[in-house]
Amino acid sequence: MKPRPFGYTRPESVAEALAALAAPDVEAKVLAGGQSLVPLMSIRLAWPDLLVDINRLTELSYVMVTDGYVRVGAVARHAEVLASPAAAAAQPLLRKALRFVAHPAIRNRGTTVGSIVHADPAGEMPAVLAVLAGTVCVASLAGLRSIPAEDFFLGPLESAVQPGEIATEVRFPVLAGPAVGTGFAEVSRRRGDYAVCGVAVTAWLAPDGRIGGGKAAYLSVGPSPVVLDLTEAVAGAAADAVSFPAAASLARARLEPRSDLHATAGYRRQLAAVLTERALVEALAEARETAAA
Ligand SMILES: Cc1cc2nc3c(=O)[nH]c(=O)nc-3n(C[C@H](O)[C@H](O)[C@H](O)COP(=O)(O)OP(=O)(O)OC[C@H]3O[C@@H](n4cnc5c(N)ncnc54)[C@H](O)[C@@H]3O)c2cc1C
Repeated sequence: MKPRPFGYTRPESVAEALAALAAPDVEAKVLAGGQSLVPLMSIRLAWPDLLVDINRLTELSYVMVTDGYVRVGAVARHAEVLASPAAAAAQPLLRKALRFVAHPAIRNRGTTVGSIVHADPAGEMPAVLAVLAGTVCVASLAGLRSIPAEDFFLGPLESAVQPGEIATEVRFPVLAGPAVGTGFAEVSRRRGDYAVCGVAVTAWLAPDGRIGGGKAAYLSVGPSPVVLDLTEAVAGAAADAVSFPAAASLARARLEPRSDLHATAGYRRQLAAVLTERALVEALAEARETAAA
């Protein structure tokens, strides 16, 4: 199929883009990397009147680490975030998760901010933002606002970004302290496919070197990233353990995935349990390394 006819504009500044998005009686949509929007238009699940292409907004093309955040501008590609040594050092979870996002050709074009606004429940970066409790900065003609991750994901392909708004930046908190680590694990049918189930984890050590707590955000098990506090299941356990059956049981008990063409709910629940343990092992190894450094 082909998209319905649509208008197209390529502004040179954020102010111009916001003016185009605010045109009356026109359903305008931001075009970033186009890796999700264009396929949806081609199968006529989206039919905007006007595409506002933000790719010339070079002021939003950055990946930087300042004020306790990795700040990713709206035009930064997944590949740029993945390749940034500063971002990887400040928040290792970004690189761990981005490696699983699609294939290099899609990462070269798709944007990290776009994938968060797109709010696909199978997307890796929404789960990363959720587990890190990051923030999305949004601009409109009415001004600026920041939306915490917990209020950002409203449902499948639905975020808190409103018509007329541009998500200008996403802020991922940097690794918080010397005894904190992160892990990411997922299973997909083929490398680069959307995950059947995946999990992003942060875990931290107590002063005695045992586990202080942990938190997980799951993808592909609900309409949005599902965040679970793992602390009750892991606190006090040895940080070099190779399995965490209580955390696996907690994931199995609390998650309510659905069956679909790709997997049954039971299989997804089992995957979530196993992947929680794998991601915890990775996160705790990092926490022990940073504590020892
Ligand atoms: C074959 C294939 C496999 C893929 N596999 C994966 C995968 O495994 N994991 C994964 O996470 N993703 C995957 N993707 C999607 C990819 O990550 C996209 O890059 C991402 O979902 C959307 O980013 P984009 O920049 O292309 O956004 P676009 O497609 O341009 O836009 C997506 C939506 O977000 C809105 N939007 C985008 N940016 C902004 C902004 N700054 N402000 C306001 N609204 C905005 C658009 O209006 C649109 O509604 C895959 C895509 C393809 C084609």
